[in-house]
Amino acid sequence: MENYRPTKAVINLEAIRKNLAAFQQRAGHAEVIAVVKADGYGHGAEEIARMAIESGVRLLAVATPDEAVSLRRAGIDQDILVMGAVPAAFIPVAQQEQITVTALSLEWIDTAQQTATPGQPLRVHLKVDTGMGRLGIQPEEAEMAYAKLASGPFSFDGIFTHFAAADDEDSTLFNRQAERMNEVLEQLPDGVMIHLSNSAATLMHPSVACDAVRIGISLYGIAPSPYVGEHSPIALEPALSLETEIVHVKKVQPGATISYGATYRSEQEEWIATLPVGYADGMLRGLQGQEVLVRGERMPIVGRICMDQCMIRLNERLPVGEPVQLIGQQGDEVVLIDEWAEKLGTIPYEIPCILTKRVPRVYV
Ligand code: PLP
Repeated sequence: MENYRPTKAVINLEAIRKNLAAFQQRAGHAEVIAVVKADGYGHGAEEIARMAIESGVRLLAVATPDEAVSLRRAGIDQDILVMGAVPAAFIPVAQQEQITVTALSLEWIDTAQQTATPGQPLRVHLKVDTGMGRLGIQPEEAEMAYAKLASGPFSFDGIFTHFAAADDEDSTLFNRQAERMNEVLEQLPDGVMIHLSNSAATLMHPSVACDAVRIGISLYGIAPSPYVGEHSPIALEPALSLETEIVHVKKVQPGATISYGATYRSEQEEWIATLPVGYADGMLRGLQGQEVLVRGERMPIVGRICMDQCMIRLNERLPVGEPVQLIGQQGDEVVLIDEWAEKLGTIPYEIPCILTKRVPRVYV
């Protein structure tokens, strides 16, 4: 489909390829599982999955059964693990589509056994809750789970846990979770793939023994936290830029008000430009005051951000059609996703996820 509005998210697949290669090298003998949930953290699950497969990734991970099915519908036949909860109704679909699902409790295992289509394997990875408190069997249930998964329709292919604070300077909780997991692994039957680490754990705790690592946020060139960003042994390359163009320019008189609520008043004669991007695109109202890049210089968003538009103050008259970088690099200046996250009082993970479907993703 042709896009007439100039607002777009440009995804640099080469940057993602480089980040992936750096993780593959860092993981050594362990393989990288590419986490492409939430539409590839807003970057486009299908495109990232294809690129990852080309680069040797054998297993993709998503959060929901629907995400897995939509990758299958897009023609991706690589192994896919659904890391979130899948309902009983999905079990026969998982068998048919060869989608691997997460065994998240002893009850879940019993239900899956009852609802599975006889004669067809159901591939599962067992989730262990070592301290995240979200999904998974308790460590003391491991032996029982191993026994249950040894029979019936199950192909017990993997086991995993999720670290709650691997991105923290304080590694107390991380160490406690790793110890709990080691105890669970003592009785593990042979041939089950062990994958424990996310981006932060792979970057900060490389000594964790495993067969695979699950890399999400940093595949996209984003550090999981400022602490990891400062200490990352890999130079992460951000992959997403958000771009638009000026669609209207005007000179306003001193005292002119801009946008809803008249929260901005010009102090002198000013050049004000309108950009065709707003909170319906994910440029949330909390970004009022955030700077954008025009001709390599920072210029502020003034007044309230509207649903579809916002205004910036220029430091000179510039023409309609002038490129504006909302996230990314222009000249020597750069606006990182981290800067938006700080402005919004949130974590960088949220930013690419909130860019809505209205913003076309363009791959370079
Ligand atoms: N594994 C699980 C279970 C997750 O929920 C996530 C993401 O939240 C990941 C791996 C990837 O984590 P990250 O994006 O921090 O690399």
